[in-house]
Amino acid sequence: MKYALITGASRGIGRAICLRLADMGYPVLINYHANREAAELTKSMVEEKGGTAELLPFDVSNGSEADGAITSWQESHPDDTVAVLVNNAGIRQDSMMIFMKNAQWHSVVDTALNGFFYVTRRLLKDMLTSRWGRIITVASLSGIKGLPGQANYSAAKAALIGASKALAQEVGTRKVTVNVVAPGFIDTDMVKDLDAKSLKTMIPAGRFGKPEEVADLVGFLASEQAAYITGEVISINGGLYT
Ligand code: NAP
Repeated sequence: MKYALITGASRGIGRAICLRLADMGYPVLINYHANREAAELTKSMVEEKGGTAELLPFDVSNGSEADGAITSWQESHPDDTVAVLVNNAGIRQDSMMIFMKNAQWHSVVDTALNGFFYVTRRLLKDMLTSRWGRIITVASLSGIKGLPGQANYSAAKAALIGASKALAQEVGTRKVTVNVVAPGFIDTDMVKDLDAKSLKTMIPAGRFGKPEEVADLVGFLASEQAAYITGEVISINGGLYT
């Protein structure tokens, strides 16, 4: 069977992507870091819709942990492959750069960027061998325009765009597409501490986006219809940035 692996799928955008890809018929692998209860809920939500889901916990920022978890999944699924990878795991640790601690810089870059590298590199071989694959990475508006207080996050998300554009050119002939989605403000735990009321006045659509709206875009990029889109960055931000 061809599986979809979604990193950071216990909550928020990752959970919505699991549900969308399950609707498209993919058995889903739900990666998460610590929140098992939330991941179990994602799993039951997929199963309630008649889909198949398995939990695959590991810290994406830890290369050997990611390798170990993926290797043991592959050993227990000798006839299955991961055909769709959604690199979605990410964290925020905002601070003006002058006050930013090393740990704040590294944790954000390690999760988004190193996580992308460890997981994508590990799964590329199967996609190239089977001559079909979809790699979709969740970056951010912050990685396109830069946002004050987010030098770490903007750097990591901008780097994901560069890495994806490079990889798209490496694997294009094998029918593996590599794309990035760049959300603006989406209503999840990640933005709970922000002043939503004043931010909404800056968004032409007048509201935050829904995780399901990002998931629909990811679902399209994962589909056969998107076979000729690769190396692209698609914004989904209610018109906040153009
Ligand atoms: P969220 O609700 O905070 O969920 C974050 C997810 O990432 C959780 O499933 C979390 O797992 C997982 N995660 C965090 N660190 C991890 C690690 N080291 N290894 C594996 N999983 C890890 O965030 P969200 O809003 O859905 O964000 C999802 C993605 O969209 C992120 O990349 C974020 O940067 C991006 N994004 C979000 C917004 C927004 O406005 N919400 C805007 C632009 C981009 P646990 O539950 O185990 O902690």
